[in-house]
Amino acid sequence: MSSDQSDDPLADARLDTLAIRAGIHRTAEGEHSEPIFTTSSYVFDSAADAAARFAGDSPGNVYSRYTNPTVRSFEERLAALEGGEAAVGTSSGMAAILSTCMALLAAGDHVICSRDVFGTTTSLFARYMAKFGVTVDFVPLLAPDQWQAAMRPETRLLYLETPSNPLCEVADIRQLADLAHAGGALLVVDNCFCTPALQRPLELGADIVIHSATKYLDGQGRCVGGAVVGSQALMNEILVFLRTCGPTMSAFNAWVFLKGLETLRLRMEAHSRSALELAQWLQQQPQVQKVHYAGLADHPGHALAARQQRAFGGVLSFEVQGGRDAAWRCIDATRIMSLTANLGDAKTTIVHPGTTTHGRLTPAQRAEAGINDSLIRVAVGLEDVADLRADLQRGLDAVG
Ligand SMILES: *Cc1c(COP(=O)(O)O)cnc(C)c1O
Repeated sequence: MSSDQSDDPLADARLDTLAIRAGIHRTAEGEHSEPIFTTSSYVFDSAADAAARFAGDSPGNVYSRYTNPTVRSFEERLAALEGGEAAVGTSSGMAAILSTCMALLAAGDHVICSRDVFGTTTSLFARYMAKFGVTVDFVPLLAPDQWQAAMRPETRLLYLETPSNPLCEVADIRQLADLAHAGGALLVVDNCFCTPALQRPLELGADIVIHSATKYLDGQGRCVGGAVVGSQALMNEILVFLRTCGPTMSAFNAWVFLKGLETLRLRMEAHSRSALELAQWLQQQPQVQKVHYAGLADHPGHALAARQQRAFGGVLSFEVQGGRDAAWRCIDATRIMSLTANLGDAKTTIVHPGTTTHGRLTPAQRAEAGINDSLIRVAVGLEDVADLRADLQRGLDAVG
């Protein structure tokens, strides 16, 4: 964006405009759509220019492990949408989490992490951060007293996802940000399920937002990527890790995500509308014991989600009567939905969390997390909702 704010036509622009216009740096060719810069390195004007760019005394690209114009466009657009000063693109969502940890944590530091985060995030903290002397406490997402009790002088990060997967529990971001800041720690929020179209954690006090761009930012299940968003000072630290260790985003993937952002709001509203309709319908079905979706008025997180989010998102889960076999029969009887654990796609996906995404937990851990054998998760896509309802009806008919 322009360095002179008063000249910047986007200085006061709203989300739908930023999603389409932020981060554009048109070249002398006058291209309308954003180009893909598939180059590993860049040519300098002179030996003195090369020296200045290497020393960081002059702006400009050096090497695509450091910066790439297409990646920069994606970073600027995402930062604008999240209301952050800067963003850093990474090779995957996990690389975004790893880069944040490696840049901001040191041996002896302590992290408090929600128990209800993406399984691989749990492994990253428990298996790898622990190996480097970072201690981690896992606490239930909805127990602020346990977050409070876990705080120590050496606590550096509080880490959470809201809404949670697959039970759609909703945490109060403002409350946990205050708790983190009172103890001199930072709050990190994985905003993968809502995206900035529905929830802006930085406005609610979070310091860092994490994305798996693989999900809704892409929106069509094509590329793996991630991003971190926050203050310029924090992003500079993460960028130094990225430049040194290399989990950078490719230019092609950045271009896919950049174009994905243009339709993000429309897609998130459509995902949310269809998910709400299906959740309400599922609640009426005799084979369904319980529906987990924060858009339902009787969901415990409904009021908070209505305040904190613009809509309720595309992911819901439900429990059928009859346990694991019934849940598997239900899934196997659907014929339109894709049986895959991915989400954030135009294509609706259906999965049995207890034996896939959460299959590595012990039965006791699953019980504690509220994930029983009857649970089915649906990440509602963009197909006609009547066809999705008919597909779920086929599934429920097989429950018996
Ligand atoms: C998928 C996912 C990740 C990991 O992202 P990758 O792009 O697969 O590395 C992290 N957090 C959440 C909530 C996810 O759904």
